Amino acid sequence: MDGMRDLHAQVIMDHSERPRNRGALDNADLENHLLNPLCGDEVTVYAAFYGDTVSEVRFTGRGCSISQASASMMTERLTGKSREEAEAEIAGFKSRMTGDGEFSDTEELAALGGVIRYPSRIRCATLAWTAFEEGLEGS
Ligand code: ZN
Repeated sequence: MDGMRDLHAQVIMDHSERPRNRGALDNADLENHLLNPLCGDEVTVYAAFYGDTVSEVRFTGRGCSISQASASMMTERLTGKSREEAEAEIAGFKSRMTGDGEFSDTEELAALGGVIRYPSRIRCATLAWTAFEEGLEGS
């Protein structure tokens, strides 16, 4: 399965080097900042809502490639979802990152699944998602 591992490493590298939707969002309906002191990662997530729809998601931050790639993937995953769908996506991602359920090989997020083998890095992968989840609760 080395080929799959290489592919996953490439996906993470691509998102960390060319992050999607990076940059602050003015007049955001949701904004939340979160730190991962274990690794030194930080991320701020921003979202705009159009009615019940998450119409735009952006992030800023710095830290390891896993934390930044995961934030980038999250912005693509949550854009266009309803609040309820976004909550379900976040809950699903976080439960799979704690070993409950599996990623489908065809989804990009599977690239983060390998992190499960390194428990100290799971927080890196879930940081942006937890920031967004907290932001949803407060917005
Ligand atoms: Zn990290």
